[in-house]
Amino acid sequence: MKIAILSDIHANLEALTAVLQSIARRGCDRVICLGDIVGYGPDPNACVVMVQERADWVVQGNHDRAAIGLLDLADFNDHARQALTWTAEELSQDAKEFLRGLPPVCQVEGSLCVHACPYEPLAWDYILAVSQAFLQFRHFDEQVCFIGHSHVPVSFRWDGNRLSRSSQWPMQMDREARYIINVGSVGQPRDGNPQAAFGIWQPKKWLFELCRVAYDVRAVQEKMRRLPLPVYLIERIAYGH
Ligand code: ZN
Repeated sequence: MKIAILSDIHANLEALTAVLQSIARRGCDRVICLGDIVGYGPDPNACVVMVQERADWVVQGNHDRAAIGLLDLADFNDHARQALTWTAEELSQDAKEFLRGLPPVCQVEGSLCVHACPYEPLAWDYILAVSQAFLQFRHFDEQVCFIGHSHVPVSFRWDGNRLSRSSQWPMQMDREARYIINVGSVGQPRDGNPQAAFGIWQPKKWLFELCRVAYDVRAVQEKMRRLPLPVYLIERIAYGH
């Protein structure tokens, strides 16, 4: 079984389309979406519809919650807030209902899936450093926890004695160890690589791959320029930061 894991699409339809084509070519059986379908980008409704059609499991992200009024926009920086204000007006009733109905966590094939962190999923903590990962391992029982939120792909491995951090892919997983794996971002990568990122997990083979796909960044930027979206958000997708 091959399970594709997508996160942080952020209303980037071109990136999502390229990722879904790649997933189909690679013969993935199932699709998990770790949230933040909307926010930042120009196509929130189309992305919600596509996720609804293609994903087997979806959890709610902080931008999804903010766009439907369940999180205070004061918690976001100016650029994110400006994009969320536009997104909230743009979203259809159907899209809002879909986002409202999403759970904060789901369990798939013995893994835990959450947007930001297993400890209090609605606290939206970032897991960037080994010390932050260490605290999080106590708050779930599954062997693997898949996350998004930071837009930077990384894995943390805990063997009961030692905690290590890696961004070497593909990763052959150790049955004796536990993992927190960040699958990166489809629509707004921040690891210096502008290509859309997503994960493929093969639970029976204990194998995780991180995949990158090029997409038409300029087409997305053109759409964004015609909308009240901040210049910083338009420029950053070309650089992946
Ligand atoms: Zn995000």
